[in-house]
Amino acid sequence: MKIGGIQKLTLIDYPGFTACIVFLSGCNFRCPWCHSPELVIPEVISDHPEISEKEILSFLDKRKGLLDGVVICGGEPTVNRDLPQLLKKIKDIGFKIKLDTNGSNPAMLGDLISRKLIDYIAMDIKAPFSSLKDIQKYTKIVGVKIKLKEIKDSIKIIKVSGIDYEFRTTVIPSLHTKEDIKTIAKMISPAKKYFIQRFRPNKNINSYFHNLSPYSENFMDDIVKEIKVFFDTCESR
Ligand code: SF4
Repeated sequence: MKIGGIQKLTLIDYPGFTACIVFLSGCNFRCPWCHSPELVIPEVISDHPEISEKEILSFLDKRKGLLDGVVICGGEPTVNRDLPQLLKKIKDIGFKIKLDTNGSNPAMLGDLISRKLIDYIAMDIKAPFSSLKDIQKYTKIVGVKIKLKEIKDSIKIIKVSGIDYEFRTTVIPSLHTKEDIKTIAKMISPAKKYFIQRFRPNKNINSYFHNLSPYSENFMDDIVKEIKVFFDTCESR
């Protein structure tokens, strides 16, 4: 496992708790609009400074009682086979753990849940995921061929897990339409929380997205108005 960074404090990334964020390098997707090439593209990862697990654990030891939780994100954390071992060490220090995932590894997700190694899951739903046409759309948005069954299985596992969760979609102009987001909402409904996130043009993997303007706040709010009936909580951010 390669740890690509740490943000020592966040008040917004773990709902209801103070936390730090640990960024794990490596991802099995290649979303062209991704704004973290240093955690995704192997050649860029290798030029990016690495933090040792020892440093992370020592930092967390000093933050005992000062922070509530640790957000584990990437890249895609579940591509690391030794993720459960790291999470166990963090749990043993006494922190709650939130996992951010693209939902491509339902087997590891189920394992982490059954071993009580995570307390909150945020899963990205990148596109609609039911028909043959959706496979092409999902592939275009994540940049690689994927098995939609894995996405569907992860959603099911999360919904029955009994732990807190959210689903979320970054809405990309030129890739998503309002209809796409409405379709996703219907597919994952009923669910506790669904957030739609504005795209950020910023060092994206594919330079086409560097100058692409995000959808307006009004556009995002209009979508929320149309889909919030499907969720306990539904917001744009
Ligand atoms: S957006 Fe997430 S899933 Fe997509 S390439 Fe970036 S880190 Fe991986």
